[in-house]
Amino acid sequence: MIEKSQSTTYQLSTPVQYLKGVGPKLSEKLKGLGLGTIEDLLHYYPRAWEDRRQLHSISELQPELVMTFKGTIRSVHFLETKTKIGIVSAAIEDGTGALLCKWIRKLSYRYDVFYSFKKDLKPGISILVNGKIIKDFAGATMMVNEYEVLAQSEENLIHIGRIVPLYPGTEGITSKFLRTIVYRALLCVQVTDPTPKIIQGHYYLMPLDSAFRKIHFPKNFEEKEEARKRLAFQEFFYFQTVMNLVKQKRKISKSSSYIIKKHLLTPFKEKCGFEFTPSQKKVIREIFNDLLSDRPMNRLLQGDVGSGKTIVALSAILLACENKLQAALMAPTEILAEQHTITIKHFLKSLPVNLGLLTSSTKKSKREKLLKECAEGSLDLVIGTHALLEKEVQFKKCGLVVIDEQHRFGVKHRLLLSKKNPIPDVLVMTATPIPRTLAQCLYGDLDVSLINELPPGRQKIETLWKKEQEAYEIVKAHIRKNNQAYIVYPLVDESDKIELKSAIKEFQKLKNETFKGISLGLLHGQMKGSQKESVMKDFYSGKFSILVTTTIIEVGIDVPNATVMVIENAERFGLATLHQLRGRIGRGKNASVCIVIANPQSEESKKRIEIFLKNQNGFQLAEADLAIRGPGEIFGTSQHGYPNFKIADFSLDQELLVPAQKAAREILEKDPSLLKKEHSVLREELRKIFSKTWIWATIA
Ligand code: ADP
Ligand code: MG
Repeated sequence: MIEKSQSTTYQLSTPVQYLKGVGPKLSEKLKGLGLGTIEDLLHYYPRAWEDRRQLHSISELQPELVMTFKGTIRSVHFLETKTKIGIVSAAIEDGTGALLCKWIRKLSYRYDVFYSFKKDLKPGISILVNGKIIKDFAGATMMVNEYEVLAQSEENLIHIGRIVPLYPGTEGITSKFLRTIVYRALLCVQVTDPTPKIIQGHYYLMPLDSAFRKIHFPKNFEEKEEARKRLAFQEFFYFQTVMNLVKQKRKISKSSSYIIKKHLLTPFKEKCGFEFTPSQKKVIREIFNDLLSDRPMNRLLQGDVGSGKTIVALSAILLACENKLQAALMAPTEILAEQHTITIKHFLKSLPVNLGLLTSSTKKSKREKLLKECAEGSLDLVIGTHALLEKEVQFKKCGLVVIDEQHRFGVKHRLLLSKKNPIPDVLVMTATPIPRTLAQCLYGDLDVSLINELPPGRQKIETLWKKEQEAYEIVKAHIRKNNQAYIVYPLVDESDKIELKSAIKEFQKLKNETFKGISLGLLHGQMKGSQKESVMKDFYSGKFSILVTTTIIEVGIDVPNATVMVIENAERFGLATLHQLRGRIGRGKNASVCIVIANPQSEESKKRIEIFLKNQNGFQLAEADLAIRGPGEIFGTSQHGYPNFKIADFSLDQELLVPAQKAAREILEKDPSLLKKEHSVLREELRKIFSKTWIWATIA
């Protein structure tokens, strides 16, 4: 255990420079690692721990093993070779035998490599050495990895004879140096815990300073894990607290009020041609409750690909229209906005709803007309991309904003929305399956609704991994039965011209050779809006049997007669994208098949494809993906402007999420803006952690 030193006490905010052994030069280097204060240092958690508890006696020595001995130095020699190598050798003895220990260093003109050795290694002193045993002509020699001179008390061992923390270092900052200064910091720091006392009590949290000591210098691995959990809880607690602050901030009254008049909703329901699924009814109820309440809605609607989110959104939009409020529907791509417009026009055929599509390819005259109608309030529904959030688009009275496929939207958009005045009701929809606990955490500022079933009569989609030729045969078989096919090429990014060429090139080949006599269409992101629209229309009407395309069709495209999809270079796609793509088929009455052609270069990539073949359900896919890759990568949390968790781990610490959420609510119930004196440290800590994120920008 680390005994606190009585002589000096430092605060968490004390600069690292005040620590013994850290001068101005090293403190500059530490800054490079983000370590400015003692607090930073204590939060710089080990990347691993090495068990160096077991001491051996020299008589047990075995070549090739890494061993630890405790002995007395008998003699020391320093040698410089002509090849600019410095060798330190020391003979040590422990009563059972003697051993030669060696340190080899490159000589430097700038400093004396022997300096610290000369200070430390003196005949007669006790020392611990750890390193690999090498057999040589002199018998056995240890190539010393680390050593520690035994001071007055053996309790003080930090590098050997215990579980030793290993830190990620950098040029000039070794793990050993970090270990030493973390140890020194722990000796003299006075720790104030930002987590309120009442939470510490209710959740049985060990004191923060013992958590720091146990995470860096644990007596055993259980102790380390206890400390890790404690610190992870705290991280989640902070995160949930700010997310709840965001949520509260939005709980101001909205200016618009709704009543259900039914003159649009009833005919819509009667004419849509199917019965809503129980899930759809349930989420519509949840959404309507939000709309009818006097607080702005902030709801996330999750539902797998094809679960029927569009008509749910449409129901909400119609309720807004019934109440003379305008609505905006934002899609992540122009093509999806176009597709939505076609579908929605179809659903609203005979209803008095004035709707318009506004994208960057809308012609100037039409654009001006739409903008004018929007500002005057005669446009009831405007469909477009996130460009709808720009200043140019003025509404007379916008009551509702629906964001489709939220995973494609960045933080910026969410922030823009929260700054609108008056605050509209917001519904975000996503088919990117996110495991429940994770969703709860990442979308802690939103209420969540879930559609957990598909409309009846959906066909199971068979997924196969085939060679190109076999795949083409299957495509031909489907076309003979008058069904249609997608052939998808990777196009990671719309500006990725090299890949784009391959889709165009392959199109020519498929058209002139493989599928000669069959009509093929080509659709990619670099085409003009009107071109895209006409290709989509032609595919929808059946003029083309095959659509050669890219991930541009990933979301929203709905052609029920398409029953086969070939995904080329499937190893290039992430699981979420593959799942979205596959969601384009299996939408009609006929059995559908998805064929991947893949050449995986790594085990992970192969595993991903196998998972894709086995799992139909998006949520199961997400769980499996989480297990192989971890959440950060899947959801790009840092990309979305969330802070990186330093110690909490979504796969290991899921069970902490709910208690952390409860703890956050407990505090905010009593002190909604954290203004009480006993919460000032917490507030300051949150500011420090979150000040650079969108979250803070929303609540500050
Ligand atoms: P997603 O949730 O992926 O956005 P969509 O809203 O595009 O799904 O719906 C997929 C298809 O299912 C559409 O053709 C839609 O008309 C149809 N659909 C939606 N709800 C139902 C229902 N209750 N019964 C039958 N078909 C439905
Ligand atoms: Mg959709």
